[in-house]
Order: sequence, then C-alpha cells, then structure tokens
Amino acid sequence: MIFPGLFQPDLSIFGIEITQGVQCFDTSKGLAGCADNSLPVVAKKDTTARIYLKYSGILSSLNNVPVRLHIFADGVEYIANATGKATKTLNQANSNDAKVYFNVNFSNDVPVSFYAEVDPDHTISETNESNNRYPASGTIALNFRKRDTLKIVGQRLRYHPSGYTGTQYAGGWAVNGGGADWLEQVLPIRNNGINYSVKSGYLDWTTTLNSNGQHDLIKTLNFMWILQNAFGWLFSGAFTGADHVYGWAPNAGYSGGHADMPVYPHAGGLGVVGIGTDAPGTSTDNPAAGALIFGHELVHDYNVYHTNTADSCGSSDSNSDFPYSSSSIQEFGFNPITGKIYDPASTHDLMSYCPAGGSKQGWISPFTWNKMFNNYAPLAVSAASAAAEPRTNVFLTTASTESLVVHATIYNPDVPNEGGGKLGELGELYKIDGGLAYALPSGDYAVELRDGATVLRRETFAVSFESEYDGHGGDEPGDPSPRPEMGVSFIMPWEAGTTSIVLLQGNQVLDERAVSAGAPTVTITSPTGPQSWPSGSTQTLAWTGSDPDGDSLSYSLFYSHDAGASWVILATGLTSQSFEVNVDSLAGGSDVRFRVVATDGVNTGYDETDAAISVPNKAPEATITSPVTGQVVTPGELLVLQGIATDLEDGGLPDEALQWSSDRQGSLGTGPSVALNTLESGEHTITLTATDSNGQTASASVQVFVGHRVYLPIVTQP
Ligand SMILES: [Zn+2]
Ligand SMILES: [Zn+2]
Repeated sequence: MIFPGLFQPDLSIFGIEITQGVQCFDTSKGLAGCADNSLPVVAKKDTTARIYLKYSGILSSLNNVPVRLHIFADGVEYIANATGKATKTLNQANSNDAKVYFNVNFSNDVPVSFYAEVDPDHTISETNESNNRYPASGTIALNFRKRDTLKIVGQRLRYHPSGYTGTQYAGGWAVNGGGADWLEQVLPIRNNGINYSVKSGYLDWTTTLNSNGQHDLIKTLNFMWILQNAFGWLFSGAFTGADHVYGWAPNAGYSGGHADMPVYPHAGGLGVVGIGTDAPGTSTDNPAAGALIFGHELVHDYNVYHTNTADSCGSSDSNSDFPYSSSSIQEFGFNPITGKIYDPASTHDLMSYCPAGGSKQGWISPFTWNKMFNNYAPLAVSAASAAAEPRTNVFLTTASTESLVVHATIYNPDVPNEGGGKLGELGELYKIDGGLAYALPSGDYAVELRDGATVLRRETFAVSFESEYDGHGGDEPGDPSPRPEMGVSFIMPWEAGTTSIVLLQGNQVLDERAVSAGAPTVTITSPTGPQSWPSGSTQTLAWTGSDPDGDSLSYSLFYSHDAGASWVILATGLTSQSFEVNVDSLAGGSDVRFRVVATDGVNTGYDETDAAISVPNKAPEATITSPVTGQVVTPGELLVLQGIATDLEDGGLPDEALQWSSDRQGSLGTGPSVALNTLESGEHTITLTATDSNGQTASASVQVFVGHRVYLPIVTQP
C-alpha cells in the first residue's frame, strides 16, 4: 500500500527579506554576523518584501504558489497577495521569489511588523498545513525612520583647455537627472528625497583636470558656493547654495571624478562639492560612469573612505574603516524601483573603484548603507548645545553689521617654490553688509583683522595637505604625495576700524593686505535699456569699474531670472570687464537681471542691469530612468516607471508635472515613480511628459513589450 501523502507536497517559507536596496538576510551566506533584516529602513522609500517559498515533494519546485503578506503599520493592518516559485533551496539570486512592493508613507518614524502565510486559502493540498506561517508565531518588526532630504545643484562646465578638441559642453543623461535618480535609489533616502536641479550657465574652465586641476576646480566651486550663499542672502535674504554642488565635465576631457572630503581638506574640506564625468547611462540599472561617479564623490563628501581591500577593486586608503575583506557588497542588493537583483559575487560597493571603471556593477554594502543612514539622521541641535560650542561648516547670521568673505591659498612648505616664495596668499576678499559667518574647524592658521598693530579679531582654521591616496600599496588612482596647496574659503565677522587683513601660520605673517579707504564702483555699460535676447544667441555683458584708491578690481557675476527675487552666481574671479552670455544656458524670464560685483581686494560695490531683459523660457528636460527600451514584461508583472524632470527656471519639477502614458492605453499615472501591473499585452511606447510652470513641455519615450515572447524556428520556402 502507498500512503497518498507521499505524493503530496509541503509548502512553507524560508524567510522574508525586507529590502530597500540592500539587506542582511540568510546568515549562512554573506555576512554571518548580520542578522536577518537588521539593516535600518527609511520611511517614504520604496520597499520590497522578498518572500522565499519552500517546497518539499517529488518535484523540484512548484510555480505560482500564492502567499499573503500581513503588514501592520502604526497599528493598522494592510494585506498584500503575491505569487512565487517554491523551491527546495533558498537562493536570493533567483528572481522568482514572491515579492510585495510597498511604501511606508509616514512622515515620521513608524514601527512596522510583518508575517506571511503561504497558500493562505489552502488551494494546494499539503502534507502539513500547520507550517505555512512565517514566522511561526509573532512578527518581523522594523522601525521605518525619517531621514533628511538633500538639495543638489549641477554646475555644467564648458571645458576647453588649450589643445583640447573634444566636446566642450557637459550635458546628457547623467547631468539631466540620471545621476540623481540613481543616487536616490542606492542610498537610504526617501523617494524624491534628492531635489536635483541644473544651474543656469556654464562654468568656463580652461585648466586641464589632472591631479592639481581637479583640486583647482573644487576650490573654485567651493568659493562660488560660499559667494552664492553670501550674496544670495544679501540680495534676497535666503541661503540658496544647496547641500551639494556637483561640477559636470564632458567625458571626452575628464573620465574621472573627485570629492572634497573634510578629513582630507586640501581642496577646501567643506564636504559640499564633487566633480566628475558626464558619461551617460541608459537607466538606473545601467547607470554608467557619470551616475556612478556622481554617487561615489558625493558619498565621499560625508567622509566615507574608499574600500581599501586587497582585491583589485579596493583603492587602498590606510585610513579606511570599510570592514570587509573584499569590495563586494557582501549581501544581496535589490532595487525596489526596477526589480533588479545585485548579486554580491559580481557587485561592488560604490566606494570601491571597479564600478566607476565600468568593470563591475556598483551598488551599496551594509556598511555604507549604515553609514549613510546615520549621516542622514535629522539634525536635532538643542539651543543650549548650539550656544555652548561654536559651530563650523554652517552658515550663521551674527550681530555684526558687516562681514568678510575670505578666500586664500596656503602653500605646502615642503614643496619648494610652490607659492613663489610665499607660504600663503590672500585671494579675492569680499566685505559685505550684514552679519554672516561660516567658520572652518580651528587650527594653527589664522586670518586677523588689525588696526595698526592691534588685533581686532582673529579667525583660525586648520590646514592639511594630506592626499586621500596616502599610505597605500601602489595601486592608487591618484597622487599619494602631499598636495602642494590648500584652498580656503570661509566668512567671518568684520570689525570697524580694520586697517589691514593678515594671513598667518601661528604668529608668522604669510600675507597682508591693506584696507583701502574707498569702495569700488561698477557701471554696467551694455546692455542699457530693455532687451529681448533670442534663443541661440550669445550676448555680451560689459561694464566699467573704478576705484577711488586706484586698486585693481576683480568681479563676480550674479544672475536673476525672476526680477531679482533670487540670484545665482554665474562666474567669479573675472578680471576682464565683459562676459559672454550663452542665452540657451540661462533660466528664462521676462525681467532677467545681472549684478556685477567688484572687489578691490576687500571693499565691494555692485551694479545691476538698468532695464528688463527678456530671455526665452526653457522647456524642461525629461529623463526616463526605468524601464529601458526592449524590456520584456510578462502580463500582470509589476513594472515601475521611474523618471526625473529638471527645469532651468523651476529646478526639480513637482510630482504632478510628470505624466506617464502608453500609446495603447493612454494615461498611466502621475509622478516620478508609477507602479503598474495592468499593461495590456503587446508593444507599448511609454512616454514621460514633463510640464514646467510656464506650460512648456518635454517628453521622453521607451518601448517595452508586454507578453510571453515566442521564438519560432525560421522557416524558409523550399
Ligand atoms: Zn573616490
Ligand atoms: Zn584630492
């Protein structure tokens, strides 16, 4: 006699992985010491429950097994059904596990718990009907936490050092939002948590981006960011400098990237700026170097080191605290937006070198995930602690009536002749009205405001020339020797009666500048009167400057597209008295204005264009980051449409400005991320249409096929 039960299968659940990008799961593989679902998770970020179904029986597996996930968020139960393949062994590399996609859309921290039941309605006869729940009792509990959001501004370069013949203007997929979308998907940050926009204008750049050139660019962008905040605040009362500025260079001239890590402050150490290639990807599943390096450099800005591992992907930074023996992401990664699985066997942490070089996929390891999760913790500074310690690297308003924007270069005394005999040099200084401060970590260098021999105020700062490639095994991608110089930018309160500004190391004077009595004046000489500047044109802004003391002047240029309500810096360090304006690179408006600010070394003055200039409004840029053309989706399968739109006038566009449609089914939804499982079978052209506040539109399209592809043998007529 044969007992019928022998032919019946049994279904149960290996486990449930709650992932937003990477998660610890299955301690028998990956990180043995990292318990299942122990990585932190973020509120308002797309999340996937991967439910691994277990099959016991005479077959090797069973398809289309139903499972029900119970989710309890803040005491309310939500139920989701899914199907997956039940297998005899747990394998996270297989994509046919049952998946539930969800978003814990709470504004603050919220506890969420889960349990699942396989074959919940008992449609499959099993040998054991009492082991279908996971966990067997109780729930899996995670706290979904609120994290900070970020504002990132892209600064495009016009790159044209002498002898360079490649593309000059940076642009394309990564610049228009692909980089920001990829970074938002890889980091512990909420959906739409990165507000990315492209700034008006191109930064004219003629220095080759070799080792020193990279640092020069970061120093320039740091100082522009300080000036943007100082003059933005002076002109409009707001700090408008963003959390990060990213300098985009054309890939033909620069295939790498660089950051400004505060622990290696040789380029300034503000932790704000990154620079890199604009090499375009096609989707966040195929981001290419432009997006990968964008993410890598901006994560560096939080003092996250290279991976320093013995494999060829490590970059060997002896200060690195990356804890693993290889640059692999160690655990399986998963992108809930695209459904892509990242196998740790072929995927490396974004802080290693292999992904950016293109030889390996880049994603995020548990270590980097934890680090960035902590970096994005909402700041909670009590009034008492803020008052108790002076704060650095933050803009503060002060009671002073005037302030000084400081720009200086400190030369490495161990590099002969670097400063032409000087060990430090004051650059352009800007004395402005109003009380504003941005302090650097203190150290043994200083700027003093003096009245004769009397020190009225002393502001100190730390200097380090250490290279981030110091102390390695010989495979460093950059120069390990100490850097020849350090750029310094900060803002300090001004003191009435100051007759000289002195740069010092300890008590040794490195440079000194007398404060002249008179402030410079600027007069914009062209254009005068109302203007209408057409698309495609190059216009010339010209001015004269004079100084009562005969000091030589240099200039910074600011631009407002909204009749003076907000201002962005277009250029600094200008010594000529004209500037070529590429009209197509500017945010448009019916009353755009320019301000030319002159400095005589300390004192400043400015002029504004005296009549309205009209510049055509620009259409937005729409970019689809998922899916890609050629993607095949089975009917009923979840497909997430993901896109981003930027606009020179509006910045990042709001959700309702992004509309999705299919040529077969019409409207599909609104917003940067739309999840669907309702596409009809057949070929679809899916279009993202972005509309700016002026009613101008732009669109992007991809073709996807919904159905089961059938490949017939080729039959030819005899
Ligand atoms: Zn790096
Ligand atoms: Zn560097």
